[in-house]
Amino acid sequence: MKLLSQEQIEKLADFVSEDYFTTSFFLDTSLDRMVKKEIELSLKNLISRSQSRLEKRNFDSKKKDSLFKDLEKIQSYCSQKLPFYDYYGLSVFSCSGEDFWEVFNLVKSPRNLVVFDRNPYVRPLSAILEQYHRICVLVIDRKTAKWYDIYMGEINLIGSIETNLSQHKGEKGREGFGSQSLEKHLSSLFQTHMKKASNKTFELFKKNGFDWLFIGASEEYLKELGSNFHPYLKEKIKGVIKAKPSDSPDKILKQALTIKEDLKKKEEKQIVEDFESEIKKGGLVVSGIRNTIRSLNKGEVKTLLVTRKFSKPGRLCPKCRLLYLDETECPACKVKTIPVIDIIDESVEAGMNRNCQVRHINPPSRLDRYGGIGAFLRFKS
Ligand SMILES: [Zn+2]
Repeated sequence: MKLLSQEQIEKLADFVSEDYFTTSFFLDTSLDRMVKKEIELSLKNLISRSQSRLEKRNFDSKKKDSLFKDLEKIQSYCSQKLPFYDYYGLSVFSCSGEDFWEVFNLVKSPRNLVVFDRNPYVRPLSAILEQYHRICVLVIDRKTAKWYDIYMGEINLIGSIETNLSQHKGEKGREGFGSQSLEKHLSSLFQTHMKKASNKTFELFKKNGFDWLFIGASEEYLKELGSNFHPYLKEKIKGVIKAKPSDSPDKILKQALTIKEDLKKKEEKQIVEDFESEIKKGGLVVSGIRNTIRSLNKGEVKTLLVTRKFSKPGRLCPKCRLLYLDETECPACKVKTIPVIDIIDESVEAGMNRNCQVRHINPPSRLDRYGGIGAFLRFKS
């Protein structure tokens, strides 16, 4: 199934077995960066690396057998799927001993990873979900209002109201409609319609908790809505689209996604600007890979900034998981460190493990001047 919600992750995380371990498998299947052959090769390598890792573990044979079976099932499932697969990532959770099997199609690439543990390793899934904004789009004219939910590139109608412009004639119109009272009548209907629309928006916000609100309406309606909206909602308004309630969902989606991309770019630019100005002030920031991993190791990082696709080899202590650029022995545990192909990737994971925000910055950006990586800190020791 497609990964769409926190509930799916929570349900998955609930699975636990008394007698067996679970295999959590993640494969980057992005066709933007790789051809099918490369993906197949990375699958093969990932499985065989995991098999030899498993051989060395001293789990009891019942557990081990179940895990080996997981790897076998995953490999054959992926080999069948991959030729026709067009998502950015594939993850499988399997516990053969309990006959447990769950597949998620991912709209963002995970890093290739296999984890054997008591329960499903769900962090990569929640990292993917975190990157998505839930958008509500309200399109409104004098008669109709419609609400759409946009999430992970999909649009769904979640509500609509109609105001019948002739429905109140009988109540008010004992004296008939002179042009003045008709105008008054229409204006009161307009007010009611707007009031209803803003109440409904707030209701949907409480129910769905969207991050951004986009509105498709004329100037006049925007002003009226703005004055009716709850202050929470006013903060959520991030864009105005050119759309009418009668427009197709596809048309609305296309416009909303364009605005979303712009907003994300602006956000990204802003965060790099803030970072640079903190550096110039000597504030709570570090830059460059060496300083950044040092701060990560110390738990000082609040927000980690990494340049997309920037990678660099490094080393990792297998015991305490601290990160290093070139230390062959962990100064903390005196254990030999192991080489890792991408220390940036390890930093992202370390950041998530330590509850840091991770922001991925598209190159080129001003972050390039500071070694392509940096962090805002909680404190500086
Ligand atoms: Zn160590």
